[in-house]
Amino acid sequence: MSEFSMDLNEDQRTLQDWVHGFAKDVIRPAGHEWDEREETPWPIIEEAAKIGIYSLDFLANAFADPTGLSMMIALEELAWGDAGICMAIVGSSLAVAGIMSNGTPEQQMEWIPQCYGTPGDIKLGAFGVSEPDAGSDVSALRTRAVYDEAKDEWVLNGTKTWITNGGIANTHVIVASVDPELGSRGHASFVIPEGTPGIRMGQKFQKMGIRASHTAEVILDDCRVPGRVLLGGKEKLDERLARVREGKRAQSQAAMATFEATRPAVGAQALGIARAAYEFALDYAKERKQFGRAIIENQAIAFKLADMKIAVDAARLLVWRASWMAATRKPFLNGEGSMSKLFASETAVNVTNEAIQILGGYGYVREYPVERWHRDSKIYTIFEGTSEIQRLVVARSISGVHIK
Ligand SMILES: Cc1cc2nc3c(=O)[nH]c(=O)nc-3n(C[C@H](O)[C@H](O)[C@H](O)COP(=O)(O)OP(=O)(O)OC[C@H]3O[C@@H](n4cnc5c(N)ncnc54)[C@H](O)[C@@H]3O)c2cc1C
Repeated sequence: MSEFSMDLNEDQRTLQDWVHGFAKDVIRPAGHEWDEREETPWPIIEEAAKIGIYSLDFLANAFADPTGLSMMIALEELAWGDAGICMAIVGSSLAVAGIMSNGTPEQQMEWIPQCYGTPGDIKLGAFGVSEPDAGSDVSALRTRAVYDEAKDEWVLNGTKTWITNGGIANTHVIVASVDPELGSRGHASFVIPEGTPGIRMGQKFQKMGIRASHTAEVILDDCRVPGRVLLGGKEKLDERLARVREGKRAQSQAAMATFEATRPAVGAQALGIARAAYEFALDYAKERKQFGRAIIENQAIAFKLADMKIAVDAARLLVWRASWMAATRKPFLNGEGSMSKLFASETAVNVTNEAIQILGGYGYVREYPVERWHRDSKIYTIFEGTSEIQRLVVARSISGVHIK
């Protein structure tokens, strides 16, 4: 039996240094510009693709780490650089997660590379579940997929909203209902290949934070796709639906399977923002003098920094634990994935808020990055399950009671 250790191994440390270097030299200096521009930072994604951070290989290597920590380490560093640019770089991986959790091995081989493209020909992926009337309550989604048996095609109709890379992605993974009477158990995921007619972008949203990441509506209007793009295949879908109709539990629900896998990764990004703000505030508090002494010499400031550091470290432990559990296939019996996402995201909001306080007026203006980090942090308590929904998952898991 191997000894218990919380040290990172050499590969993980090398990865951490490499991604940190990119975050420090390329992402962080560009954060302000792309926040102001509110556009996809193509030159930065190109840089990331050139050195291999925006690539399928990067994802595959990180997933090959049996401890599950590599991806968390990389995400923390990227978001430490800038969360909006980080999301622009990792947004495609939402589509990848959708394909990984529901697709057959052949489908994974075919579609996942198309979510990245190559350094000379970059592609994006998008994952669309949310709708105007179906946010937390995914079971209420209305987008319909109807099978046209004669042509072996699916026809999709509906409107998705808040979709990261929505409408600008080359490959969209769309969750739709194939049987509305079955609620979320009647859902299935479809790959919409590049160039398919009938899918288009609706409005692009102007946001409070992560403004370098594109968020828009996606409209499906008689969007016809071949039968083979149904993730998992028709046979498996028919079997699953038959089981549900007989009253047996369905093994997986398309959207939920994806979210379970991605929650610690969302937590890792929030953690990166929190750490950035903590470090910045610590340096500032040592430099800034008022009343003839550094402001950190006041307990009121030093204790804030102590609390910030404790929360950042605790968030990292929860994120790493959840990711390790997922990688080693230990079930989340107490909602550990949700715990990590909830705690890290609320830590990011609190720590960035305290960082503004420590910087005083300088914390409130755009000359300094701290107000941006606070704006960026808020989304992590909302997307991929709000804090309330994460608490619901944990509360139900620990109690066995169907708490509403
Ligand atoms: C920037 C951004 C990017 C996004 N990217 C994507 C994406 O790529 N793909 C995608 O599919 N979606 C995406 N989303 C959507 C996101 O996942 C949803 O916004 C989120 O799930 C919440 O849904 P909602 O906004 O409809 O809020 P609602 O579900 O309407 O919630 C409103 C409030 O009610 C609370 N609430 C709801 N139900 C309960 C309950 N049962 N108990 C207690 N409180 C409850 C919520 O916690 C929240 O506080 C994105 C959103 C944003 C803003």
